[in-house]
Amino acid sequence: MTVCGIWIAAPHSRHSAPRLLLRRRAAILAAMDDRTHSHAGAEDAAVRGLDGVIRHDWTRPEIQALFELPFPDLIFHAQRIHRLHFDPREVQISTLLSIKTGGCPEDCAYCPQSAHYDTGLKADKLMEVDAVLAEARAARSAGASRFCMGAAWRSPKDRDLEAVCTMVEGVKALGLETCATLGMLTEPQAQRLKAAGLDYYNHNLDTSPEFYGDIISTRLYRDRLDTLEHVRGAGERGALDPFEFVRTIAVARIAMPASVVRLSAGREDMSEETQALCFIAGANSIFYGPKLLTTPNPGRGHDLALLDKLGLVPMR
Ligand code: SF4
Repeated sequence: MTVCGIWIAAPHSRHSAPRLLLRRRAAILAAMDDRTHSHAGAEDAAVRGLDGVIRHDWTRPEIQALFELPFPDLIFHAQRIHRLHFDPREVQISTLLSIKTGGCPEDCAYCPQSAHYDTGLKADKLMEVDAVLAEARAARSAGASRFCMGAAWRSPKDRDLEAVCTMVEGVKALGLETCATLGMLTEPQAQRLKAAGLDYYNHNLDTSPEFYGDIISTRLYRDRLDTLEHVRGAGERGALDPFEFVRTIAVARIAMPASVVRLSAGREDMSEETQALCFIAGANSIFYGPKLLTTPNPGRGHDLALLDKLGLVPMR
């Protein structure tokens, strides 16, 4: 089971946290090796990162240097590195279903599903297995190759996990890749999901350790890292410059050359031109379907028309 490719929410996402994108950037910086005292100069550091080799030892100065490259240089390198690892015409089509909506005990400041905020969202119980499989069949018919199931939990109870495992087995039997985001997992729970056939697990880092208390008080950054290790072992909405968003995609592509980079919440508010730049900068996955958990998403027809205009095709 693999940690799902990174998801990047767009700047105008209706449920974005304050300065969400800058915090995504902080998260990318924080996810790298925290060796802030590299002896290499910024330019040298960036040059050393432009060969497209998969690395796990990025430093903050190296990532910062990438962000500071002239925009055309950054996009050129991101696109060149993208081509080393992926077919540049292919975009992965994923469908996301909320299998358990609302009532979450966590207090993530950006999330309408948190029970700490009055967002008008009605909390639902875990969906029945048959209903989930019907949605998966519909997603497959509409062209999706991956089906992601999201539940608003701090962490799954073992009885709920068994139901999710049945869903995973059923979705897998339909020939779809399976992905889940269920909150924090213990090591045995991660192993159980893997045994059921789960291909990918998404677990957002949310932001960097420095900002963590501003966004979430009910868990620690370390808790998120612990779950990622288990999986591997088995107010204000700032209007951000779209070029800053594209830069973030490009830096993610250069820093994680072989990872799938997905545009997630907020695409409904992005222009087609911005999305096209994101694809050029190395994004190669979208969530497909009119709703992302609780957030509106572009309609399927609109997305297929955009891919067609750009000469892009669904990844198989
Ligand atoms: Fe929302 Fe997930 Fe945070 Fe719960 S853990 S409040 S569902 S983002």
